[in-house]
Amino acid sequence: GPGLKVISTLSVGFDHLALDEIKKRGIRVGYTPDVLTDATAELSVALLLSVCRRLPEAAEQVKSGGWTTWKPLWMCGYGLSDSTVGIIGLGRIGQAVARRLKPFGVRKFLYTGSGPKPESAAEFGAEFVPLTRLAEESDFVVVTCALTPATQGMCNKDFFSRMKKTSVFVNTSRGAVVNQEDLYDALASGQIAAAGLDVTTPEPLPTDHPLLSLKNCVVLPHIGSATYATRSTMAVLAANNLLAGLRGEPMPHELKL
Ligand code: NDP
Repeated sequence: GPGLKVISTLSVGFDHLALDEIKKRGIRVGYTPDVLTDATAELSVALLLSVCRRLPEAAEQVKSGGWTTWKPLWMCGYGLSDSTVGIIGLGRIGQAVARRLKPFGVRKFLYTGSGPKPESAAEFGAEFVPLTRLAEESDFVVVTCALTPATQGMCNKDFFSRMKKTSVFVNTSRGAVVNQEDLYDALASGQIAAAGLDVTTPEPLPTDHPLLSLKNCVVLPHIGSATYATRSTMAVLAANNLLAGLRGEPMPHELKL
């Protein structure tokens, strides 16, 4: 409405806000960075492991009677040992993901973004590379960037066609970073091995969506920050942002527009 003065979003992402209009009208915006980083990174790792070791598919086999005699290659997947991991967007969550993946024996971290970030990358010995090289060399691609005009549709046909047939794609950022039709084609044709998505376009994803018919695709309902503790901390922060905004005081976390 015309009297709107303060917005408090229960998220670190702000791609859902009309920032030009907000800036023009001098509306203040509070958001919740940092407090959800660990939970979202943990979920990203959980999703990656579920996908590369085929956990949902394997658990289903137990229920359906598909589990019979031991076979050497049955339900085999891809492990992190000695792998190359590419992080798209080495921000708060991207770094927290790399920090958690490193002890699994990752050999090399690559990352891409608007420019090299040597201080953030040093902890992982991560190398800044163009998106094309990240696609070509990574065994695991993890998308943790913000959704912006530059990142919208960034993971498209060209991107997936550069990936290895044995590589795994994980997106816990925003659905619109991915061209879903191109991802479907890459998964269905065996161009890439598997994908895990915590975010989709639209949300919720229709239950008859083609991606849900694929065995090599795991889709979660945007639960990155969904731990009791994190959601509670986010709620308190969002409430304090709102109160500070209404009182004309500095917010605990105000988005700089
Ligand atoms: P940060 O701002 O710390 O990190 C965002 C990263 O995006 C930055 O490192 C930035 O890199 C990168 N980026 C920007 N432009 C590009 C580009 N063109 N190519 C590649 N990378 C780019 O945010 P957070 O880590 O806190 O959060 C990241 C996103 O995760 C949020 O924006 C949100 O959309 C999503 N999210 C999802 C959740 C879920 O439930 N699944 C929960 C929480 C967040 P650079 O610094 O080089 O510009």
